[in-house]
Amino acid sequence: MTSLSAKIAAISRHRLAIDGDGVTTLVAFAGCALCCRYCLNPQTLSPNPKFQNLTPQQLYEKVSIDSLYFIATGGGVTFGGGEPCLHPDFIDEFRKLCGPQWQIRVETSLNIPSDNLIKLLDCVDQFIIDIKDMDPEIYSSYTLVDNRLVLSNLNLLATANLYDKCLIRLPLIPNYNNETNRQLSQQKLITLGFKNFDSFNYKIKENTLWHEVNKHVKS
Ligand code: SF4
Repeated sequence: MTSLSAKIAAISRHRLAIDGDGVTTLVAFAGCALCCRYCLNPQTLSPNPKFQNLTPQQLYEKVSIDSLYFIATGGGVTFGGGEPCLHPDFIDEFRKLCGPQWQIRVETSLNIPSDNLIKLLDCVDQFIIDIKDMDPEIYSSYTLVDNRLVLSNLNLLATANLYDKCLIRLPLIPNYNNETNRQLSQQKLITLGFKNFDSFNYKIKENTLWHEVNKHVKS
């Protein structure tokens, strides 16, 4: 019996083509090392007694109700947050429980220890990477941390030739970057060999730090 468990901030079912192909269930872990100015999920960042503490087995039992949808549509479970890649052992154990038929995806900043990423290379089908901006100064002013781990992890993925597993999101972040910065980021990533990109814009709501995606353009 495992003692592995993690705080889960939310479980959202029946998402269609939002977090990858097919019908997916989004599982949001609590906690993240970044402090993005317009964090999409600020409720996952602070301690909250309402968060569920679940083992992989308990999570599997909750989400397997949609197994037929996952298998029929090429969907599965997408781990988000917060930062899901702070929980590689949990995700690896969950993969062993669900088997190969579900697609397992992670929505990550990639600002994580490289050992975590190495543990996830085999058990994750797709890495959906919010790169913020490749420029170190823009990155640190927006997230309040540096992007050295992001850059080394991109190199790790490139060295492992895992380009097909990666979808890189390139946001336009009001007051932090512009279209030229975004194109420069994409060009650096193309130079590294990455080829799957998803460009989108953050729109800041008045009087709040929340943002929403107001334009979602595949490129
Ligand atoms: S990486 Fe995601 S969860 Fe973490 S602070 Fe940034 S937007 Fe929020």
